[in-house]
Amino acid sequence: MAELKDVRGIGPKSLCLLNKINIYTVEDLVTHYPFRYDVLQRDDLSKVEDGGKIIIDGKVESVPILMRFKAGLNKMNFRLVTQSGVVGVSIFNRAFLKSKLLVGTDVIVIGKFDKTKNVITASDIKMDVLSNKVKIEPVYHCTSGLTNKNMSTYINMALLMYGREIRDYIPKEFQEKYDFVNKKTALNIIHNPSTVDKLKEVTIRLKYEELFEFMFKINYLKQQNKKEKNGLVRVIDRDKLNDFYKKIPFSLTADQNQAVEEILKDLESPTRMNRLLQGDVGSGKTVVAFIGMFANYLCGYQSALMAPTEILATQHYYNLCEFLKDTDVKVALLTGSTPKKEKNDIYKGLADGSIHMVIGTHALIQDEVVYHNLGLVITDEQHRFGVHQRANLQNKGVKPDVLYMSATPIPRTYALTIFGDMDVSTIKERPKGRQKIDTYVKKTSEIKEVLEMMYEELKQNHQVYVIAPLIEESENSDLTTVNELKDQMKLAFKDKYRIDIVHGKMASGAKDIIMEQFKNNEVQILISTTVVEVGVDVPNATTMVIFDADRFGLSTLHQLRGRVGRGTSKSQCILISDSDAERLKIMEREDDGFVISEEDFKLRGHGDLFGTKQSGDMTFKIASIKNDYKILLQAKKDSKEYLENKETDEDELKKYFIESITKVN
Ligand code: ADP
Ligand code: MG
Repeated sequence: MAELKDVRGIGPKSLCLLNKINIYTVEDLVTHYPFRYDVLQRDDLSKVEDGGKIIIDGKVESVPILMRFKAGLNKMNFRLVTQSGVVGVSIFNRAFLKSKLLVGTDVIVIGKFDKTKNVITASDIKMDVLSNKVKIEPVYHCTSGLTNKNMSTYINMALLMYGREIRDYIPKEFQEKYDFVNKKTALNIIHNPSTVDKLKEVTIRLKYEELFEFMFKINYLKQQNKKEKNGLVRVIDRDKLNDFYKKIPFSLTADQNQAVEEILKDLESPTRMNRLLQGDVGSGKTVVAFIGMFANYLCGYQSALMAPTEILATQHYYNLCEFLKDTDVKVALLTGSTPKKEKNDIYKGLADGSIHMVIGTHALIQDEVVYHNLGLVITDEQHRFGVHQRANLQNKGVKPDVLYMSATPIPRTYALTIFGDMDVSTIKERPKGRQKIDTYVKKTSEIKEVLEMMYEELKQNHQVYVIAPLIEESENSDLTTVNELKDQMKLAFKDKYRIDIVHGKMASGAKDIIMEQFKNNEVQILISTTVVEVGVDVPNATTMVIFDADRFGLSTLHQLRGRVGRGTSKSQCILISDSDAERLKIMEREDDGFVISEEDFKLRGHGDLFGTKQSGDMTFKIASIKNDYKILLQAKKDSKEYLENKETDEDELKKYFIESITKVN
């Protein structure tokens, strides 16, 4: 298949820009779908109501008059002759268009129509004419330096040059069954629709395709799991396991006990465990996982626990070491920043079996890692790992049992589909002594009040998390905001408290040091981008302040809020936002992650449930699990039929799907 740089018109600079928005291949490019369409259809002046939206084309009739105001504002007025009469046009801050708007020029004006004054206040002017047909313009997510027009040009060139080579993920039989157009045609239409009906038709086709591929993989994993009755059979010595219980400084909740029992049963049974452990933030999943690991150790097998970030992996490591203090269990921490020599030692220990448990990040599934007898694999914050990583890790051991932990509660109906290949344990109950976290929605203008609330807590020797405003990821603007915020806080609290920053671009070693200092209360205010989102545990932190809260989904806010309220002191969460108060108020009322997740689902679709773009294959390019649930169910049924149909075993597509699941990447 051709590479992106082979597409005519894409030079090194545009290549860079495309990479920036995660477009790396020709396939990525042609499946960079418009996020909306502008329908350009000529309106009739007499038929548009007062104040209504209008699109109209015509010829410029008078020389535009430009007015300049202070603060760099300007406004331009001219008259336009259209098929349905003459109308005045005003547009703000487009002085640069003056030289183009010569008398007699054809333009399309888009804006709002003030009927009484007979004036259109334009939001956009295009140098073009409208044909008598409807014109549908795709609008793409772009990045600075890359315009909508560039994007459209590149996509169409790629389709022209390589359209035929783009893989079609729908097997022939279903293409025919649903009378779908082929992939190339579908892509051509989605990027250049001529009618709304055609657009709708191919949208369904492309959604189906995406969901078919996804459900095929899920079904495949499920089938593999079921087939193999040759999981490890263990006999767990309950007396020895009880010794481990004694080291736990609290007693487990009923839900935790139940989850532990379910896991132990799985470990003992010959069917491989493939279980999702879901529980709200702070519900205490980690200790459940540790018990599972210890039981696995007692039976003579190695365990691996994989976390999505180094911070989290490190935290789990220290916690586990604490529990295992007086035992012979050997635990290792393996992350991207583990020094080379140490890494090699760990590889050796894992290969010869002298290391019993290993905690780490994605480093655990790298090719170099060979296990002696991996019996149990646990991944924390499961939704960050895609189907491929799930499969990869499973390929590592003989037949390891697998437990996925997720703090993102997923509405049951959806869970059953997307995690159709797993059993589910749920922790609903929270540990005793936890108080509800008071949540407040505040406006930016109320910042003084927020600072006072922070101060009240700091005075009691408590600590504070501050989540910095989200900024479009460009250059170092991210950093600037975080630094500015630090200066502001410094100004407010003088030198009384130590303030520090962690952010995504920081080297992980540096990050760990600061997290450690925060943990030890050497830093009182921790300003951060969303890296604390997952799992950090600092019980003395009692206040969470989130700037630009409206930018986050409710589930993410709930996750962030879960960073506080981990000790016995009353905690609070302050959401700062100047918009979207209605939605944010849900956070004031609700503290049940499952309810919040349902609300989020209703409001935003699945987007937020599975984290950000990086979350792998849980995010779809065109389909939405919520809105396209019916298509999903159909795709689930069809892909299962396809998977189980022996006659299709030689299909190139089927082989491709299976290979792409099992491929170690
Ligand atoms: P999460 O489910 O979000 O991963 P953790 O496992 O990090 O939650 O647990 C949150 C905190 O609650 C930890 O400090 C943990 O030690 C504590 N904890 C867990 N279970 C209990 C319990 N049954 N009683 C009291 N504290 C508990
Ligand atoms: Mg956790």
